[in-house]
Amino acid sequence: MHLDYHWLTLFSTGLSAICLVACAMPTTSSAAGGQIGKKPFGKLPDGTAVDLYTLVNRHGMEVKISNYGGIVVSISVPDKNGQFADVTLGYDNLEGYLKETPYFGALVGRYGNRIANAKFALNGREYKLAANNGLNSLHGGLKGFDKVIWEGKSLATAEGPALELTYVSKDGEEGFPGKLSVTTVYTLTDDNGLKIEYTATTDKDTVVNLTHHSYFNLAGKGDVLNHEVMINADKFTPTDKNLIPTGELRPVKGTPFDFRKPTAIGARINQDDVQLKTAGGYDQNWVIDKSAGKLGLMARVHESTTGRVLEVLSTEPGMQFYTGNFLNGKITGKGGWVYTARSAFCMEPQHYPDSPNHPEFPSVVLKPGQEYHNTIIYRFSVKK
Ligand code: BGC
Repeated sequence: MHLDYHWLTLFSTGLSAICLVACAMPTTSSAAGGQIGKKPFGKLPDGTAVDLYTLVNRHGMEVKISNYGGIVVSISVPDKNGQFADVTLGYDNLEGYLKETPYFGALVGRYGNRIANAKFALNGREYKLAANNGLNSLHGGLKGFDKVIWEGKSLATAEGPALELTYVSKDGEEGFPGKLSVTTVYTLTDDNGLKIEYTATTDKDTVVNLTHHSYFNLAGKGDVLNHEVMINADKFTPTDKNLIPTGELRPVKGTPFDFRKPTAIGARINQDDVQLKTAGGYDQNWVIDKSAGKLGLMARVHESTTGRVLEVLSTEPGMQFYTGNFLNGKITGKGGWVYTARSAFCMEPQHYPDSPNHPEFPSVVLKPGQEYHNTIIYRFSVKK
């Protein structure tokens, strides 16, 4: 008998998890409820099979993740009336992601966001990267971590169902030095959080900046202009016309970038501000006000018609807040939804863009013997 769908169920009693249907997955005890299943998601043009994992917690929150690009394909959460909706943009099938994607739900690496002129110097040597955004390198290059096959493994952890993805990026891949071994663990926690933990090691000095690129719309439809955003930051990093940070850490006070008090995305987005005009909306990095390396609250977003709330926590020093400015109606996504600018927003905890060329920014250098760590949590709740 061919079984292409299997579930790993976790019991809150602490008993060993069992497979409800025959499966080859390991059994582990867990204190949390929930389950993880796996089914085929399609094939790459070269015939490589791609999997889709479904994680469900005991409150019914459901997250689908593919081992192609570690893409989070959907996140289904309840509103204030208990109605579930998928709050992310993307496609109904693998073909969509293979054809064209502005990094919907992607696991971004080896370097999230831009590296100016697709080059940087390290230990006195210049490294030339693949340029895929004008002259710049964006989100890892032509074939970043969002376009590779990751090795997937279902886990039953004390916190909830989890998916471990591993990938080894070759020395010289997309121009980056050092063989980088990366592990990403997605855990669906009991408090309706999607926790993402990245670790990486290298065999040569390199630069690393991993992040997550879901496009959120907490109403699951329409635009995000009424979403109220709080960003825990006194400063942001303004950019030049190519969206490369100038190096300045500019106070948000008195600017449309001040989200210290909850403010609707649409309240100031069309103001006559050079930064907003250059980017076509919000597309900057905020310097988060918290201790380096400590997990802390970066942002909170509230959508009043559904009551849905998203909190973003991370150990990273910065967060890119992007309002889908480049979505121009050319992409039709899930359920026939035509995506336009402001259909969604991204909150990408990371180091600052172009850090390899800015010695004054927190360092993104990883050396042999060190371990890279980055934890991001997207936690959902409702406010009545
Ligand atoms: C960048 C945008 C870019 C988008 C999609 C964001 O992280 O800041 O400039 O257009 O990703 O690639």
